[in-house]
Amino acid sequence: MATFKAVVVTKGDSGTTASLGRFDEADLMEGDVTVRVSHSTLNYKDGLALTGKAPVVRRFPMIPGIDFAGTVETSTHPDFKPGDQVILNGWGTGETHLGAYAEKTRVKGDWLVPLPAGLSPAEAMAIGTAGYTAMLCIMALQRHGITADRGPIVVTGAAGGVGSVATALLARAGYHVVASTGRPQEADYLKSLGAAEIIDRAELSAPGRPLGKERWAGGVDSVGSHTLANVLAMTRYGGAVAACGLAQGMDLPASVAPFILRGVSLLGVDSVMAPKALRLEAWSRLAAELDREALARITSTIPLEGVIEAGAAILEGRIRGRVVVTID
Ligand code: NDP
Repeated sequence: MATFKAVVVTKGDSGTTASLGRFDEADLMEGDVTVRVSHSTLNYKDGLALTGKAPVVRRFPMIPGIDFAGTVETSTHPDFKPGDQVILNGWGTGETHLGAYAEKTRVKGDWLVPLPAGLSPAEAMAIGTAGYTAMLCIMALQRHGITADRGPIVVTGAAGGVGSVATALLARAGYHVVASTGRPQEADYLKSLGAAEIIDRAELSAPGRPLGKERWAGGVDSVGSHTLANVLAMTRYGGAVAACGLAQGMDLPASVAPFILRGVSLLGVDSVMAPKALRLEAWSRLAAELDREALARITSTIPLEGVIEAGAAILEGRIRGRVVVTID
């Protein structure tokens, strides 16, 4: 019987458990493309799946891992043939569909994106779902007319995955980036990515006033809760904030004041079910616009054997930037 190496989450009476083991190839789920995975990554959601701290896994046993790069092994999908290099983000992999922390996976070809020209599989996964989401946020702001000349952009959770890539992309595009972090020791790191100002996240994370001083033209927020409420309250007239995350909390204890008195817009960003055209645009812009030296500074690499421990660390805010997981 053919088996492959995988991290598997199982459910018992006392909750869920993640362990490294072998998975039977016959138990792979339905799909028209089988991929040999070379790299995955660690995202916040993977931390939730690995630790069971939030119910993101909705099928057991589950192989977690929401993104991967790999090579097509077999395919009956018209767009893909054996040997093609592909990437995948989201679509429920690692949640409802067997995911990426494995040597092998089987998915729908419609979910796959060709490895963008100019990016290696390792670089694509250094960007990963967090980085691709950062680009979706920037695209949302730009669609709303938030160009670099409109004023500063605040990036919350700046030393995290979404925040680090957003900081690097915005700075390279000429934006004045205000990086909000709870880790003052990462100030030099954030400046090396192009942040113009560093602020203490404590300025934003406590309950605030409905409207504050107008500090920025927009924001990329991966934190939610009071932080997002304060970011909105401090956004200039006509500005916009792209919201994608909930590292502080899923709540939004805000008032309508920024919307109705300053015409501020809140732009929701989802990467999981984003349509293919948006994905292709985001990945082609990432390949063209993300400075490779900045990407290298953002990235650390661990083997599959280390991902369970790293999953707990990301939920505790102990991971800086992006973590690539090498599979083979
Ligand atoms: P990371 O853990 O890498 O980054 C999150 C950062 O948020 C931390 O590094 C920390 O930054 C900050 N943070 C953590 N806890 C708190 C807190 N209690 N209060 C304020 N700030 C806090 O995660 P990712 O970058 O991978 O993901 C960030 C968020 O975006 C997650 O909530 C994730 O679920 C979401 N996400 C959503 C996607 C979508 O499709 N909408 C796709 C990808 C991610 P610092 O130390 O600098 O303060």
